[in-house]
Amino acid sequence: MAPSQAEPTPVETAPATETIAAPLLAWYAQAGRTLPWRDIDDPYRIWVSEIMLQQTRVDTVLNYYDRFLEQFPTLSALAEATEDQVLAAWAGLGFYRRARNLHRAAKTMISEHQGQVPSDPEALQTLPGIGRYTVGAILSSAHNARLPIVDGNVIRVLSRVFHLAGDPSRSAMQKELWRLAEAILPGDRPGDFNQALMDLGATVCHPVNPRCDTCPLQSLCLANKLGDPEDFPHPTRKTKVVFQQRAALYIRDRDGRMLLTRRPDAGLLASMWELPAVDLQDGEDPAAAVTTLLPSAKRARKIEPIGTVEHRFSHRHWTVHVFAAENPVASSPLDNDQRRWVHPDDLHEIGLPTATWKAVRLGLKLLDAEQRPGESPG
Ligand code: SF4
Repeated sequence: MAPSQAEPTPVETAPATETIAAPLLAWYAQAGRTLPWRDIDDPYRIWVSEIMLQQTRVDTVLNYYDRFLEQFPTLSALAEATEDQVLAAWAGLGFYRRARNLHRAAKTMISEHQGQVPSDPEALQTLPGIGRYTVGAILSSAHNARLPIVDGNVIRVLSRVFHLAGDPSRSAMQKELWRLAEAILPGDRPGDFNQALMDLGATVCHPVNPRCDTCPLQSLCLANKLGDPEDFPHPTRKTKVVFQQRAALYIRDRDGRMLLTRRPDAGLLASMWELPAVDLQDGEDPAAAVTTLLPSAKRARKIEPIGTVEHRFSHRHWTVHVFAAENPVASSPLDNDQRRWVHPDDLHEIGLPTATWKAVRLGLKLLDAEQRPGESPG
């Protein structure tokens, strides 16, 4: 008996890179998101939006973007502000290093780039907080420069359309993603194309349950043809979360002002204000540790636990045991760059990070309701 002829397996091939732009731009014209940083060509405003959007959802950024620009409407207004003013306007958005870099870069643009956001990609990428993605996003939107972008949304779309196996955090995969992002970029309207790619990832090509039936790339997408979009992108290496126990002290003076201290000027929440606090060693008693935070003349003062707050950063988790000194103290005039007494009504001017607000709220419960300040969101 003659051996049966095996049916050839259909071989799906990746789409030609030049076929992506037309359907994607047509879809964007109909379904692109309306956002305040779209359809403008002011590189300063686009830059602010891109920095805010790093690691932060669009919905959250919308609560801050207009307010920030009302306070700092121009590059020179931002450069002339103090760091505390910038951090206060940023308070609640998290990842405060972004605000600090934004401020530093604004000063450099004023002093070294004729008061402009540089339009040269290499010059722009030397500035603090501005990497290759941000350069592409700013210059393609503001000047229609043909520069690609690769962010989480773009990685998801590209790895599905081209069926790219591999960990996107690895350099070989990064290289391939940037190569493809550049190859699919059309000569005209690269800014719109980049925005369209991001919108597709954000609104259609979801991590779970992508809406392939409404996708303009459905007929081109290799993962859709092979029925495995959710297998892409492949998982990335996970960074371990560090758990840190802390003890914090709410201590107020006879005018109802609380003591705040400034964090170190490098590292997590650098230079931000918080209740006096100490990191605990493994097994260390928070009640004992917190007494070291009292001014030395007041160490005999009774302190009580008033609650515990949890706060998760990207790779760190704090558990903060908050204590209050029993009675107000006579405050010494110690306002300086590292420690200050602050009335609750003035807290919003400082720009407390969310982790500090959580602990401060416990302290404020000790005050009369009418003394509570308007809190910053987040
Ligand atoms: S067809 Fe599906 S998997 Fe492919 S890009 Fe569109 S939404 Fe994503």
